[in-house]
Amino acid sequence: MAGDTIFGQMLRGEIPCDEVYSDERCLAFRDIQPQAPIHVLVIPRKPLESLRAADSTDSELLGHLLLVAARVAKQEGLDDFRTVINSGLQAGQTVFHLHVHVIGGRPLAWPPG
Ligand code: 5GP
Repeated sequence: MAGDTIFGQMLRGEIPCDEVYSDERCLAFRDIQPQAPIHVLVIPRKPLESLRAADSTDSELLGHLLLVAARVAKQEGLDDFRTVINSGLQAGQTVFHLHVHVIGGRPLAWPPG
């Protein structure tokens, strides 16, 4: 259950995080193992396990997460940045609570691994 992940614990204030943005629908905080000078995760307060679990009732929430990702990137001084959503083990998802990675501050190669 998504609410039982480490991100769920952060949302409930049970464990600390390095918060950069928060509102009634989402929380953004620094990744504990940053892959670039700036690496922030934006998560919904709603416990969706991944993008796979979202449906049409989540349209507004998903749009909001992307707008917050862009807002956080700007707040962090990034003009160029990458947003990533891993869905499922084979795609590299390790925490099963939907999250948008916001990565920047260095040149980023493509394609990803
Ligand atoms: P995923 O691999 O699921 O797309 O991304 C999960 C991310 O969560 C990883 O980048 C990982 O470093 C980060 N992460 C895992 N545990 C913690 C934690 O306890 N605190 C923070 N801030 N990030 C975490």
